[in-house]
Amino acid sequence: MNRVYCCYPGGKHKALTMSYDDGRSYDRRLVEIFNKNGIKGTFHLNSGLFDRGDRVMPEEISDLYAGHEVACHTVTHPTIARCPLPEVAQEVLEDRKFLEKYTGYPVRGLSYPNGSVTRDIENLLPSLGIRYSRVVGSSDSFGLPENPYRWQATCHHNHRLMELGEQFLGLFKKQYLYLMYVWGHSYEFNDKNNWDLMESFCEMMGGKEDIWYCTNIEFMDCMDDFARLQFAADNSFVFNPNARDCYISVNDQPAVRIPGGQGMTL
Ligand SMILES: [Zn+2]
Repeated sequence: MNRVYCCYPGGKHKALTMSYDDGRSYDRRLVEIFNKNGIKGTFHLNSGLFDRGDRVMPEEISDLYAGHEVACHTVTHPTIARCPLPEVAQEVLEDRKFLEKYTGYPVRGLSYPNGSVTRDIENLLPSLGIRYSRVVGSSDSFGLPENPYRWQATCHHNHRLMELGEQFLGLFKKQYLYLMYVWGHSYEFNDKNNWDLMESFCEMMGGKEDIWYCTNIEFMDCMDDFARLQFAADNSFVFNPNARDCYISVNDQPAVRIPGGQGMTL
């Protein structure tokens, strides 16, 4: 029987994604650094705090974050584990509605304000159209999220960033899928006066042939697309019911592209 492995787009086995919260004005400089190096990320915004000074403006988010992902961070940034569930539901849904007026696409990502989450909140999110949500802290690892509603980053940018980046670049075992996920707030670079850290990291990580640069939701969509592939019981053929292409590796051969809406003999 064919042995089939999931690959990232282009047949890659390493992915890098970034995740920044609160939508402060320093996002503009951060996006510039990402764009210069072909790095992609997700920006989690509070739709009720745009007028609280020092934030990006709703009117600019579609241009500013073009090529990146705009995602929810709730309307007003409460510590939601302390709130009644209907309030949490509205904090998320109203955030989605507002942001979608400016993005023009369904906003399906979330990061928990103050990292606050409970089991009940996790269970609520799929019915609010949310596909993943990020917690705080650092896992120090390059594994894939087991539970997308408790998605923990590899590291905060002030935690071993360059060291972990170098480790990630050195990963070569193609039998694994790897993900490096960095999170933080852009204003922290201003507070600590360490923009050079992110500049060096992005210069070091950008433009690598074997890395897929993706937003948080692109990563989840890739995993979901793979899960929807329909394989023959003996893995001799496959049908891709998704609109997007999928990439798989068969018997350790170079990855093949399964075009969206098409089948293929393996
Ligand atoms: Zn926040």
